[in-house]
Amino acid sequence: MPGHDLRLIAMPPVFRFAPSPNGYLHVGHAYSALLNFDLARQTGGRLLLRIEDIDVTRCRPEFETAIYEDLAWLGIVWETPVRRQSEHFPAYRAAVEQLAAQGLVYPSFESRAEIARLVAEQDARGAWPRDPDGAPLYPGTAKSLAADERDRLMAQGQPFALRLDMAAACARAGGLAWREAGAGPGGETGEVTARPEAWGDVILARKETPTSYHLSVVIDDALQGVTDVVRGMDLFWSTSVHRLLQTLLGLPQPAYRHHRLIHDAAGQKLSKSTRATGLRELRAAGASPAGIRGLVGL
Ligand code: GLU
Repeated sequence: MPGHDLRLIAMPPVFRFAPSPNGYLHVGHAYSALLNFDLARQTGGRLLLRIEDIDVTRCRPEFETAIYEDLAWLGIVWETPVRRQSEHFPAYRAAVEQLAAQGLVYPSFESRAEIARLVAEQDARGAWPRDPDGAPLYPGTAKSLAADERDRLMAQGQPFALRLDMAAACARAGGLAWREAGAGPGGETGEVTARPEAWGDVILARKETPTSYHLSVVIDDALQGVTDVVRGMDLFWSTSVHRLLQTLLGLPQPAYRHHRLIHDAAGQKLSKSTRATGLRELRAAGASPAGIRGLVGL
């Protein structure tokens, strides 16, 4: 019967590229963006662009403008409007409140310098554990502060960070895993066991930035209906925290694909300040979009 096609219509996959405008894009970003674009094309999917600018002290409008220019030059087409994280702080705050209502959040008042001193003290007694990025786990004891002491410090206007009580969060969420179509740094692929405890009591929000990378990524991927997270292998183990937050907040889990990183001639990870691999510099030196594709092996 014409007009009465009862076949179920599959929703197209949704990919995203999510750069931070705290520097100019390099060929590593080009690889990630092109891979997402190609996968969206090949699967009849959609490509979103998200500007991850929660760190208002480091992010600058000229870098954001440059992101649009560089991606367009590469031939990438994305949907608009672009989601800019700095415009959605209330959504992240609501998520922190949801976690706090579950008793999984506490404020910590130590400064960065105090934390460094506590870590040095712990290291002197034996190597204090580091997270998968190599940063020391939170060494403080704010979790066990008495409620009246907490209230007193807050009333004094002491700056604080809101942290996830990782032990309680893991106990509540139970064992977690994710589906990995790419690979981790140790070749992990397929069904990967999440290990959020390796990150310690991560920061969810700071006084000056009412969110964090982990929290805003998880909220946005869910709000934007992202089905496929394709990003660099340097973020592989962050997925453990993302799976934990998704579970605690009742959000759907996307499929993940972590891709290889592009290294410079000396075998080092690319940085936004290395001019030799910057897209603008390569373009000024006469490179073509096809040349960039070739350079990154696409
Ligand atoms: N904004 C992050 C970055 O530029 C990427 C976040 C993600 O893909 O999950 O490294």
